[in-house]
Amino acid sequence: MLILRNCRLIKELTEDYSKQYADILIDGKYIIAINDVGTDFKVQCEEINICNKTVIPGLFDLHAHIDCRSLDPSRMHLKGAGTTAFEAYECGREYLRQGYTTVRDCGCRFNAAIALRDAINEGIVQGPRMIASGLIITPTERGNSTFETLYVEADGPEEVRKACRQELQKGADFIKVMGTGAFYNVGGVPGETISSLEEFEAAVKVAEMKNTYVAAHCHGTGAIKLAINAGIRTIEHGSFIDDVGISMLKGNDNCFIIPTLSIFMVTNDDPSLIPNQILDTIKSLKEAMTNCIINAYKAGLKLGWGTDIDFENLKKRPGYEFIVRKKILDFDNIDMLLQATKYSAEIVRLNDRLGTVKAGKYADLIVIDGNPDDNIFVMEKDLIHVLKEGNLIY
Ligand SMILES: [Zn+2]
Repeated sequence: MLILRNCRLIKELTEDYSKQYADILIDGKYIIAINDVGTDFKVQCEEINICNKTVIPGLFDLHAHIDCRSLDPSRMHLKGAGTTAFEAYECGREYLRQGYTTVRDCGCRFNAAIALRDAINEGIVQGPRMIASGLIITPTERGNSTFETLYVEADGPEEVRKACRQELQKGADFIKVMGTGAFYNVGGVPGETISSLEEFEAAVKVAEMKNTYVAAHCHGTGAIKLAINAGIRTIEHGSFIDDVGISMLKGNDNCFIIPTLSIFMVTNDDPSLIPNQILDTIKSLKEAMTNCIINAYKAGLKLGWGTDIDFENLKKRPGYEFIVRKKILDFDNIDMLLQATKYSAEIVRLNDRLGTVKAGKYADLIVIDGNPDDNIFVMEKDLIHVLKEGNLIY
C-alpha cells in the first residue's frame, strides 16, 4: 500500500471527490480511496508527501510510432529487427518519463510494439501500457515505398480482410488503415482519398469480430466521411475536416478525431529536419489544417490526444503537444488536459479503468510541478512523480 499525502486535484479530472486537496490511498494497482487531507487510513505503509502539487491521471498518446527514431524515413530502412526493438524500448521509457502511461502505437515495424507490449505486461521491462496496431494496411499507392517496411499493401475488401486478420494473428490490438495520402510519403498526395468505403467496411467487420476497432489515417474530408460511414473508430489527423464532416461527428459516440499537431509543428521549429519537398507541402497546408481542427474544437467535438512524433523530438520537447495546441490552436488548458486523459481513455474504451483520478481505477498518476489548469506551459517541466498501476516509476 502507498499513501500520497497533500495532493492538489483538478475537479474535471477527478471523480467521486469534490474538494481540491486530498490524500490518496493506493493498494496494488488500484486507487482504493480519495479522502480529506490528514485522513487516518489505519494502515501501516509508505507515504509520499506531494506538498500540494497537482496530481492528474497518466497521459495518453493515441498516435505514436514507437520505432520512429527521427523524421528522416530513409534512416528507418537501415535498421533491423533487433535494433528496432531496443529503440522501441527506449522510446517507451521516454514516454513513461514524460507521464504517458498509455501509448497507442499506430504502426510499427517487425512487430516491435506488440513485442514491447508483451514484455512490459509480463514485467520483463518497464514501459507504458502499450496498445499496438502492427503494420499499417494501405492500398497500392504512390509514396508507399517511403515506409516500405511499415506497410502491407491490400486492395479490395478480400485483400483487406486477409491483411487485417494477419495483423490480428500477430497480436495487434487494433487495425490501422490508410484512408488518404500522407504528407511524408514522397510522391503521394496528402488528403487525396485512397481507400474505398467497401475496403473500410471490410476492415471494420474483421475488427468487430475480434471485439476491436479500426483507426484510419485521413487528412482529406472525403475519406473522413467514408470512415465515419464505415464505422471506423478513430480518424487519425483529421486535418481537412469540413463542416459536414464535423456535423457527422457531433454527438457521435462511435467515431473521434485524433489530431496530431506535434508532427506538423516540429518542422516549423526546425525546418532542417525534413526534405524541402515535404516542407513546402506542409507549409502550404498548415493554415487550412489548423483552421479545420479549430472548427472541430469550437463545434464541441471530443478530440483525442496524439503526437505522431519521432523519438528524437519527443525527447527534446517534453509537453510539446500541449504547447502547440495552446500556441497554434488556442485550446483551453482544461480541455487539453481532458483530451490527454479522460477523453482519450473513453475513445480507446479504457475509461472503466483509466482516464480520471477515481477510487477503483488504476493508479496511473502523474505529479506536476505547477498548476497546468492555470498555466499549461508547466507541462514542459520534468514531472515530480510518475506512477503506473501503483508502481512509483519516477
Ligand atoms: Zn502516424
